[in-house]
Amino acid sequence: MTPMPLPGQPHVHFADGALHVEGVRVADLAQQHGTPLFVYSKASMLAALAAYQRGFAGRNAQICYAMKANSSLAVLQVFAQAGCGFDIVSGGELERVLAAGGTPARIIFSGVGKTRAEMQRALQAGIGCFNVESEAELEVLNAVALAGGHVAPVSIRVNPNVDPKTHPYISTGLKGNKFGVAHEDALRSYQRAASLAGLRVVGIDCHIGSQITEETPYLDAMDRVLDLVAQIEAAGIPLKHIDFGGGLGIDYQGDTPPAADALWHKLLAKLDARGYGQRQLMIEPGRSLVGNAGLCVTEVLYLKPGEHKSFCIVDAAMNDLPRPAMYQAFHQIVPLSPRDGATASYDVVGPVCESGDWIGRERALAVQAGDLLAVLSAGAYCMSMASNYNTRGRPAEVLVDGAQARLIRRREDAQDQMRGELLLD
Ligand SMILES: *Cc1c(COP(=O)(O)O)cnc(C)c1O
Repeated sequence: MTPMPLPGQPHVHFADGALHVEGVRVADLAQQHGTPLFVYSKASMLAALAAYQRGFAGRNAQICYAMKANSSLAVLQVFAQAGCGFDIVSGGELERVLAAGGTPARIIFSGVGKTRAEMQRALQAGIGCFNVESEAELEVLNAVALAGGHVAPVSIRVNPNVDPKTHPYISTGLKGNKFGVAHEDALRSYQRAASLAGLRVVGIDCHIGSQITEETPYLDAMDRVLDLVAQIEAAGIPLKHIDFGGGLGIDYQGDTPPAADALWHKLLAKLDARGYGQRQLMIEPGRSLVGNAGLCVTEVLYLKPGEHKSFCIVDAAMNDLPRPAMYQAFHQIVPLSPRDGATASYDVVGPVCESGDWIGRERALAVQAGDLLAVLSAGAYCMSMASNYNTRGRPAEVLVDGAQARLIRRREDAQDQMRGELLLD
């Protein structure tokens, strides 16, 4: 029996007919902690980070992990200890970074809807930069900073209007997206920012989308942003750093995104050619640092054969793994201990009361009730998007490091979920 090759996941493999993450047998973790269970490889996260670090060797560059991809505290610790900064999008994420020991000066705060309270807290914590997404936000941030006796470091997120050729819900740099300031308004926004006493202009940023698997959109966006840098600096507003955002894709299903180091080799050549190679650089990768470092283990509860379709009903659902329901996303699904024998085609679905609750469609599997399956490439935008829909507790999480496995989040129980709710008299 030859198991399917596992896409892009060097730290997940079969040994003696059993799936392992690094040196740990995944079935042992499921037995100890129950299912559904997220299992992450620390070596995989560090290897993904190392590809960026190689790409930026000898450069003045800061990698800010876009933590919305996976915001579990222990995952943040891994990246904080490796020297990363963080790209945050809410006050809650700020508290997580601080709890995980991240350095406030290496935090950048993105997002179109920052509240005054979030701004205040971030100023008080001393974050490195606000990535401002509209002129209205500039005015509010200025007022909040002045009222608190601060000067807010700002970058303006510009919208380079390039098509990242990805799913429309995760494309963010086109006209008609809610993100950033339009290319043609950028100079005016910078002039306004520079005139406000509560703001200090420190940089410029862009982020064009997610799960990008081609290099052309990045090269085009870089050209468009550098055009703006030239324009803004010619108007007398110096920019200390340039932030090119995140968005690099991963291999879910034979996808072939460029490697981070190879991509940056090309991008840095362009940057050098245009004379900006010595500038401080920032990037905000999320998915590409954690996506293929994680899987979700789930147990087959029932097989439900049918005339037109057969269902494999598992104990993980759209509340644990929202990407298929939200974006029709594909995750490879493999048995932890592949069986010999004929496969049948199943839709792999969860127990949630929605027809949208599916995890994989038309998958050839040789399975029986009680078998354990791994949903692969589940390190990014799974646990961080998990909900309690159907009053399902969110899964436990384990971080593997070599032959060691450590529980990093307890499974949520019903009491956890009802905490904070108030009964009527
Ligand atoms: C989500 C996001 C990122 C990270 O995107 P990935 O596709 O996970 O790399 C970076 N920057 C901003 C502003 C984001 O919203």
